[in-house]
Amino acid sequence: MKTPLDILKEVFGYASFRKGQDKLIAQILKGGDVLGIMPTGAGKSLCYQIPALTEEGLSVVVSPLISLMKDQVDSLRQNGVGAAALHSAMDWEETRGILSSVRRGKISLLYVAPERFENNLFLDFFSALDVKIFVVDEAHCVSQWGHDFRPSYLGLPSAVERLPVRPVVAAFTATATPEVRDDIAAKLGLKNPFVLTTGFDRENLFFQVQHPDKKSAFLLNYIKKFPGASGIVYCSTRRAVEEIYDFLRREGVSAARYHAGLEDAERSESQEAFLYDRSSLMVATNAFGMGIDKSNVRYVVHYNMPGSIDSYYQEAGRAGRDGSPSECVLLFARKDIMTIRYLIDQSDNDDSRQAGYRKLQSMIDYCNTNRCLRAAILSYFGETDVKEDCAACGNCVSGAERADVTKAAKMILSCVYRMEERTGRHFGAALLTDVLRGSQKEQVKSLGLDTISTWGLMKEYRGRELREIVDFLAAEGYLEVSDGEYPVLRFTPKTRPFLRGEENLFMRKRARPEQEETVKESAPVGKGAPVNEELFERLRQLRRELSKEQGVPPYVVFTDAALHGMCAALPEDAEELLAISGVGRVKLERYGERFLQAVQEWKNSRG
Ligand code: ADP
Ligand code: MG
Repeated sequence: MKTPLDILKEVFGYASFRKGQDKLIAQILKGGDVLGIMPTGAGKSLCYQIPALTEEGLSVVVSPLISLMKDQVDSLRQNGVGAAALHSAMDWEETRGILSSVRRGKISLLYVAPERFENNLFLDFFSALDVKIFVVDEAHCVSQWGHDFRPSYLGLPSAVERLPVRPVVAAFTATATPEVRDDIAAKLGLKNPFVLTTGFDRENLFFQVQHPDKKSAFLLNYIKKFPGASGIVYCSTRRAVEEIYDFLRREGVSAARYHAGLEDAERSESQEAFLYDRSSLMVATNAFGMGIDKSNVRYVVHYNMPGSIDSYYQEAGRAGRDGSPSECVLLFARKDIMTIRYLIDQSDNDDSRQAGYRKLQSMIDYCNTNRCLRAAILSYFGETDVKEDCAACGNCVSGAERADVTKAAKMILSCVYRMEERTGRHFGAALLTDVLRGSQKEQVKSLGLDTISTWGLMKEYRGRELREIVDFLAAEGYLEVSDGEYPVLRFTPKTRPFLRGEENLFMRKRARPEQEETVKESAPVGKGAPVNEELFERLRQLRRELSKEQGVPPYVVFTDAALHGMCAALPEDAEELLAISGVGRVKLERYGERFLQAVQEWKNSRG
């Protein structure tokens, strides 16, 4: 029997395990059920693929999407592993071929769509198998509490019971709150499972929020930083997708687009173009991405703010699955809040509206905070002990000046207090700004707010400036924004101590149009970028050719990370190539010579 580390090196070409992988693997090999909760890109697949390969025998993997299965099977085959998938998009001929390979012991990993287990013919076949490990990927699909409930997952335990010998059951997911976690264990009938959570952090992602005056100009500038690299621009509506798509084309940037309003044919065409690196830029609604495992997405831009941090993290998390440095930038504009409020208001269930408003407010706070953005996300997901200085987010590395807003903040908060004192009511940010700027509006007068001492106190401020400070106070917890259709502002336990105290408050200054030039330079993409752009480009080109020959996406041939490794190490022989992360035995045999040759040619061309 080979050790897990042998397999990691020989088959997958990696030098060491990532956090949590070795523990989960050891537990499965001991014969115990597991539930692994690790963020996207953490490497959950290896946790079951390696135990599946230490000995002969069959492991069955349930996976919810055909595209995910294909990706996994392609990758495994590229590494010389016997793998196959069974799903509805296959004809009978193909299915029969696979079943027969399984019977003959040619297959180590069989991927199966959950719906197959509702099919009696398949169940008969399945229940005669000697299954070593039964894997449930994307296990949150079994829970009604989660976001992608799939009823057919509920039938999995009874399928497992039909087997002559109960296999180890191993479940994996990236998203699980404590209640979903318990639900998964119960619904899948896990026996005394070893539960491992590695935390939500994605270390290779750089987060930032921008408040540009002109988003389109910002976007254009931004994507120029990534020539040839894959990126996604998410928009909140189909119309926005069309507008940005047209705008980019007018500016000479070619892109693919994706939203639910397009014909199926065009949708799958653009998806393919993106997966196969024919189009490097995808402009899409959130309909795009579920089940896309493309590992070399270098940046994700949110052109519009999503409705919750949950959605944001999931979508932004499609960047950098291969572990190479990647960026996630969110473009904030107040207008986007209205779109989301409108959507929330459509629900006629009071509880879900309340929850919607609460999640929205957390998202807005994220956009306005001075705090470490990574820490803000992780604490939102309930992690404790988060570091407040990650050194890899817009707020931690920003060279932007910080302005002392102590005095302005105190004036604003006093005004909130005076307005309540006069009327006995709470109000929203719009009226608050009106009063502070000395507005003569009817509403201000009729409430008698033009007679309080804070009326006109901040006349010299522009509306927008003032509003930014109010948002900042909410984001930092000096004001509470109520849930509901007409959110109002209230004091929090932090407010009075601040008003009375000596503490100073600093707010990061926003880049203004004339300063936007500096924005281009602020992001540290260079850090993990290939050592040599020209060689990287050559290797990418070679990868594209091989991908065409093999009929698999380029990132299945080699990840960006592996190409970066080659650029840095400039390998001269097979042994040196094998030492690069992501180069295993089989890939070395298949592609080694051509990559070595490409490196050599590049060296020669430089004399
Ligand atoms: P997940 O399912 O957790 O989202 P995957 O299993 O798809 O993540 O793995 C993401 C990427 O990380 C893949 O390209 C995979 O090959 C790579 N990977 C996994 N484990 C390691 C490791 N120990 N060392 C280097 N790369 C790894
Ligand atoms: Mg996965």
